[in-house]
Amino acid sequence: AHEGILRRQSARESAARTYARALPIVPVRARGLTIEGADGRRYLDCLSGAGTLALGHNHPVVLEAIRKVLDSGAPLHVLDLATPVKDAFTTELFRTLPPEFAARARVQFCGPAGTDAVEAAFKLVRAATGRTGMLAFTGAYHGMTAGALEASGGATEVRVARLPYPQDYRCPFGIGGERGAELAARWTESLLDDTKSGVPRPAGMILEPVQGEGGVIPAPDDWMRRMREITAARSIPLIADEVQTGVGRTGAFWAVEHSGITPDVMVLSKAIGGSLPLAVVVYRDDLDVWQPGAHAGTFRGNQLAMAAGTATLAYVRENGLAERAATLGSRMLTQLRGLAEEFPCIGDVRGRGLMIGVELVDPETAPDTPTDGPRPAAPELAAAVQRECLRRGLIVELGGRRASVVRLLPPLTISDEQATAVLDRLADAVATVAA
Ligand code: PMP
Repeated sequence: AHEGILRRQSARESAARTYARALPIVPVRARGLTIEGADGRRYLDCLSGAGTLALGHNHPVVLEAIRKVLDSGAPLHVLDLATPVKDAFTTELFRTLPPEFAARARVQFCGPAGTDAVEAAFKLVRAATGRTGMLAFTGAYHGMTAGALEASGGATEVRVARLPYPQDYRCPFGIGGERGAELAARWTESLLDDTKSGVPRPAGMILEPVQGEGGVIPAPDDWMRRMREITAARSIPLIADEVQTGVGRTGAFWAVEHSGITPDVMVLSKAIGGSLPLAVVVYRDDLDVWQPGAHAGTFRGNQLAMAAGTATLAYVRENGLAERAATLGSRMLTQLRGLAEEFPCIGDVRGRGLMIGVELVDPETAPDTPTDGPRPAAPELAAAVQRECLRRGLIVELGGRRASVVRLLPPLTISDEQATAVLDRLADAVATVAA
């Protein structure tokens, strides 16, 4: 069955297939961190549905919540009507949001994907400000629909102005650290204030507190606060894209909590649906300029996703899983930095909470420099590490510039022993590739 399914799907699916190429697995059963393939092989899954599975696969509280709705006879499709299931979800969501944000928040159910909520956010701030432009950052990823694509790194833009995202490793200014972040902030200011060669005042700025697909690049807290000041001083709504960083992933329930900023708009998806599709845009009430029907969508009311999401949000909150992600994440980062000292092909180890990246570079080019020059990214080494991990029963994702960053996004429920097994397998894979 295993080989036949792989063969048939590769013949019938589009050339855009991604994960399925690097991971020739036919999952038939899954629980927590573990996936079992049709060939009987078992894997530790550190891809977690691209960061969606905060509680891992098929967590009992999630399954129970879904079953409860199914057994209750409640309608599964209700467009955007109010239901007890939606009431419970909204209540739990608002309970988790930063209090000063929640106090004045409105939610628009979008759907079904993260990219839909990004589009809704753009549309909202354009309506609220009467302006059209958008500020986005180098290396950003916001989705695959037209507006989100425009705001994502690499795309040629028309209405989107690209700003430098601060980073220590391969900093675009060749500086990194606090000074690089400060220069990035000043660049943003001058672009906004230069009336001749700058950009017209935009409708909004969208940023990821930690770039995920961009290669796991955490933004410094100071830079986040600078972006908040710069946008607030110019009445530019700040949109935090927490599609990937939300629900405890980075060691705080929402990643904006690290810097203490209050955004004007938050875009949420992935983990909020407890493994089912759900996406919302949450924003301060004075931005709510929409007329009834100004934003719509047939699949805004996924009752099963809301129930699974309520169970997930409550479980993460009640069990302190954000704090758990912070402690376990920093332990894993320390261990991986030890590994980097051993293997010159590891150029950088970075992350926040359980959002971790290991960047592979050409080992022949040491000593390191912070610029993009002398230590070129090594996508072939990263792909080899991913393959060797898979052979050892470990699923990891690749991201970042030229897909040279091995990404770990384990469920927040991963145990200490499982984390050790993950790191052992990864270390073994790197050793094999480096040999
Ligand atoms: N924003 C961010 C930060 C993301 O990581 C992603 C997905 N990786 C998206 C938006 C788009 O979400 P979706 O794939 O559900 O459209």
